[in-house]
Amino acid sequence: MNKKEREYFTRLILEERKRKLDTLGRLQGTLDEINESRAAEYEEEVTLSDDKEYLSKLIEQDARGLEEINHSLEKVLDGTYGKCEHCGELISKDRLEAIPTAILCMNCKRQEEQESLGGRVRRQERVQRIKLHGEEDSEREDLAIGTEEE
Ligand SMILES: [Zn+2]
Repeated sequence: MNKKEREYFTRLILEERKRKLDTLGRLQGTLDEINESRAAEYEEEVTLSDDKEYLSKLIEQDARGLEEINHSLEKVLDGTYGKCEHCGELISKDRLEAIPTAILCMNCKRQEEQESLGGRVRRQERVQRIKLHGEEDSEREDLAIGTEEE
């Protein structure tokens, strides 16, 4: 990536950062308003806490996005920006333009998505195995107690 490209993507990242900060400020403002109007109407309490939960989630998401942005800026500084963090290949410029904070190339991203799907299935299987195993254990315990009594 040459200097010009690096500057271009840095600008994209900074624009993204500004957008995120703006949104974050707005969300925080709305949350403050909600907190202040809490006592206003008792009946609305439920809706208010729903809104609050929703806003908190959005704020959390945005804060995570900002972390990614900072991470990308660090990468620009140490010269690793635009390289896939998994395989080290260059991430395509098209992809960076669409997602300036991308840290994985398209191939690795796809792989990761497939693995995380697979991971979910594996987790479910593990939970099932643990359940089965747990039942076996308790049976064995029953037997052990049985023999002790005899
Ligand atoms: Zn890769």
